[in-house]
Parts: sequence; C-alpha cells; structure tokens
Amino acid sequence: MDTTYDGIIIGAGHNGMILAAYLGKAGLKVLTIERKSVTGGGLSTLEDPRHPGFLHNIHAFFQRAITNMPWYTDLELERHGAHYIEPDLNVALLTRDNAVLGWWTDIERTAKSFEQFSPKDADTLRRWHHEFVPIVQNILSWEAKAPPLPLEQRRRLLERSAAGRRLLEVSSRSPLEFVQEEFEHPTVRAGLLFFNGLREVDLRVRGFGHHIAALLASPAKAQISRGGTAALARALDAAVRESGGEFRLVTEPKRIVVEKGRAVGIETTDGELIRATQFVASSLNPHQTFLNLLDASLVPKSLRDQVTNFQYNLLAPLFALHLNLHEAPRYTASTRHPELQRALMVIMGLDHFDQFGDILRHHEQGTIPPTAMWGACPTSLDPSQAPAGKHTGFMWEKLPYRLKGNPDWSGVGDRHGKKMLELWQTHAPNLADAVIDSFTRTPMDTERSLPNMREGDLLVGAFTNGQIGDHRPFPGAGTYRAHLPGLYICGSSSHPGGNITGLPGYNAAQIILADLGIKADWVPPPIEEHLSRLD
Ligand SMILES: Cc1cc2nc3c(=O)[nH]c(=O)nc-3n(C[C@H](O)[C@H](O)[C@H](O)COP(=O)(O)OP(=O)(O)OC[C@H]3O[C@@H](n4cnc5c(N)ncnc54)[C@H](O)[C@@H]3O)c2cc1C
Repeated sequence: MDTTYDGIIIGAGHNGMILAAYLGKAGLKVLTIERKSVTGGGLSTLEDPRHPGFLHNIHAFFQRAITNMPWYTDLELERHGAHYIEPDLNVALLTRDNAVLGWWTDIERTAKSFEQFSPKDADTLRRWHHEFVPIVQNILSWEAKAPPLPLEQRRRLLERSAAGRRLLEVSSRSPLEFVQEEFEHPTVRAGLLFFNGLREVDLRVRGFGHHIAALLASPAKAQISRGGTAALARALDAAVRESGGEFRLVTEPKRIVVEKGRAVGIETTDGELIRATQFVASSLNPHQTFLNLLDASLVPKSLRDQVTNFQYNLLAPLFALHLNLHEAPRYTASTRHPELQRALMVIMGLDHFDQFGDILRHHEQGTIPPTAMWGACPTSLDPSQAPAGKHTGFMWEKLPYRLKGNPDWSGVGDRHGKKMLELWQTHAPNLADAVIDSFTRTPMDTERSLPNMREGDLLVGAFTNGQIGDHRPFPGAGTYRAHLPGLYICGSSSHPGGNITGLPGYNAAQIILADLGIKADWVPPPIEEHLSRLD
C-alpha cells in the first residue's frame, strides 16, 4: 500500500472532511484518518438496535443555514445526496400556561408573536432586525468565512465604517445586558437569551452584546437534514472520495511525526508510519493535538501553558432523552396555535430569564437545575426517520459534566430522563401512552463518543478566556497554523468555533492552499480588503 500522501487530516468530522474535499479538488492527494468506523463526527444518526427503522440524531440536529454555506454549494453536496428542510416556525417556546413565543423564518411573523407578550418588545425586535441586517450581510457573515484578523487590525478596520463602529459599540455589552436594556417582558427576554445566546456564549461576558441582534437579523435559520443528520456526513464523504481523497477508519494516531522541525506524517497506534509531504492537519482539540500527539520536546513550555489554560464550556454539555413513539406529541397549546405541530424546535420549562442565573449556579456546583429543555419531533417534518406511521422525539437539557465532582452518571440518567418526560407530558399529555421505548445520553457519553469534545463540550472550547478570533484556540495559533512548519489545526477549537458551520475547515483550506502557493477560484477576497471598502 502507498503510504505517502500530500497531506494527512486527523479526524473525519465535518470540518476535517470539508478541508479534505477542498484540498482534493485542488489536486492534492489527501488521507483522512478517523478513530471510528464511520465518518461524520457530530453528524451522526443511529438506528435503534432494539427497534429497526427508528433513527436518532445523537449529536447535531438543528443546523443553522447549512444551505447558505459556501462549502455546501462548492462541494455540490445536493448532488451527493444532501437535502435540507427549513420549517417556517423555527423555534417555539411553550410557557407554563401554554402561551407560545414563536421565532419564524419571517421576521414579521416573529414580531407578531412577540406582540402577544409585549407590543413594545415587538417594535424593538423590528428595529434591531432592520439595523443589523446590513451589519450581518456586510461584516459578520464575511468575517466567519475568512481566517481571522489580528484583533487590533480588526478594530481599526471596523472603526472606519458606520456599520463597523455600531457593531463595536453593541458588542461591548454582554448578551444579558443587551436583553435587559432592550427588552421588557420576562418571557421574551428568556426566549431571546435562550435561542440566541445560551446555546453558544456565556451570557455574562462583554464583547458578545451583538450576538442576539445578529442572530435576529441573520437570514440563517435552523434547518434539518432529510434522512437524519448523517445524510450530510454521507454527502461530504462522497465529495471527499470524488476529489480523490481517501479515508482510514478505525485508525488512531499515536503521534505526529516531526523531522528536522517539520510535521511529516503520523505514526498510528498500530505502529504504521504514514508520510505527508506537505502538511498534517488536526481537527482535534488542543489537548489532543499539542499534548497527546506531539512529543513533549517539540512543545515549548509557553505553548504547553497555553494549551493547559485552554478552557472548555461549563454550560455546553447536554443530557438527552430520546423516544420511539406510536404518535407525535400533541401539544395542549396547539388548540390555540395549530402551527405548533409543525414547529422545529420546542422549548419547555423556561418562563423567566432569572432561570439563567440558577442554571449557571447549578453547573458551578455540579447539581441538577430545575428542568428547562428543548428538542423536536423530527418525524413530524421528515417521516423517513421512523417506520411508517411511527415517530421519534428527543429533548436536550444543559446539565453539568460532573455531578458533585463525578462525571459518572450511572443510576442518575434514567431517573432524570423520567423527569424530562413528565415535563414533556404536561404540555403533550398524549405522550403518556405513546412511548414505545426510550434511552438517555449523558455528557460523559458525548466525550466517550467524541473525545475531542472534552468534558462533554460540544463546541470544543469556550468563547470566554479570550478564545475568539485570531486568539482561538490561543494567541499564535489563531490562523490555523500551528507552531511547527507543515502542522495545521482545522477543528471547532479554531475560529469561528463549534457547531455545524464547517467554517474552521473552510478557512483552514484557504490558509493551507495559500501556504502551498496554490490558487483556488472559490477563495473569497481577503477580509481586510472587504472591510476597508465599507463606508
Ligand atoms: C448532544 C449534542 C448535540 C449537538 N447539537 C448540535 C446542533 O443541534 N447543531 C449544531 O450545529 N451542532 C450541534 N452539536 C455540536 C456539533 O456536533 C459539533 O460542534 C461539531 O460536530 C464539531 O465538528 P468538528 O468537525 O470540529 O468535530 P467532530 O464532529 O467532533 O469531529 C471530530 C472527529 O475526530 C474524530 N476523532 C476524535 N479523536 C480522534 C483521534 N484521537 N484519532 C482519530 N480521530 C479522532 C472523532 O471521532 C470525529 O469523527 C451537538 C453536539 C452534541 C454532542
């Protein structure tokens, strides 16, 4: 077997595969190695082994604006079988008294829903949407699709345009301050913080005040993959193979091989040496890449300290309850809001924004907060994910990775799953007789399944601790180049971060091709040029 490639990528999650496909299209011979027996990482759909035909998306399910992503079009993923559904009612928050706060793909319908709670908040929503549409279009969406600029250079460029100055001004607040200062109704505040904030950033941290306005203004709404999330993994896998790329599954690196100070390949845990003439790129977390896979003599103390100080999200780990159902949940609130039966994400147990402080305190103490959860009935939008006439459903809850200091959830998980089901039944009483079978997954299961999601952090690194932009994962490694020639990073611990965006892989491809002197027609113009042209 030929064991020399132009490049080796470690980890066949979506970021690794997007990088592999672009580099393959540029004519490079690329091998991607993956410890599991399937590609996709967080793009995973399991068929319940006890109930054939019931599919469960155990990691990513709600995917934001996949069809708007440049790689989705460039890699022709629909030709490779991907298909996305974008439900009109993207998010519905059910209050204890069965009122519904809805977030629609159409902002005016969202404003009308807000009006039921507070006409003033509905007007505030319209105002922020209007003001932020050009900021999202002209600045934020460009920045996400480009290697990040040094923070000072970015600031100087943004200060040159009115939109840039406004962005800097709004971001100087925290999401919590933004919501408290701009909106009045407790349910509206809770909803905005939840579906725009809690899932991604620490709400108390200044520098993210623009986050909610940006998400409200973004054309990017939640979508789901027909046939299950893994359908996107299969499409990416096919695109990689079509570009000439190869995979080695059930293969783990023991170390990254470095010769004369340059990364030149990997040695597998089976002792095989696989060489790379141009690059090695890791989509794993900084602990894995720099501490586990590089000989300690190759990692200077200052870098070792940076890795050791890299922080994972306290609030990201998820606990999941998955159900096989005879019928879809029938919400009591749907008698007044029939559209609820076609909602994508449903949130329950969250009525007041004060709950966030409580959730945070429980995470710090390693205890379980009162349940606030969100999830979906995938089969009400995509019947192909269950046998004919049957359904699946799931709910997620943010729960601490460690319960009272111990990540072992044995004996607690099923009990907690029952509590979640009880809350679900208060809103959808038919679930009492509809459940065929169920299972739960804990934050520890996430880490076992995907070790790059250390401590169950599905975003693979916090956005606090300065870990953003060209300081993600840490200063000196923010442009996908590691400290050794030929070594790159390309996963969620790089800009712009976790979730299914594919942008760390997309941006890393730009950097690797530039370093190799290969021109590619898909590469956008340099971000500094774009920002300096704004009025
Ligand atoms: C419960 C849960 C729910 C989520 N829900 C959503 C959601 O609704 N929407 C959303 O956008 N995101 C969601 N996410 C987050 C999303 O799945 C991740 O942010 C995303 O998968 C990260 O992509 P990646 O390519 O960087 O890493 P991954 O998808 O984790 O891929 C990394 C790959 O590297 C492999 N690997 C790890 N260690 C090694 C090793 N030593 N050797 C070889 N290979 C290795 C892994 O097996 C994996 O295939 C969720 C995650 C979880 C856990």
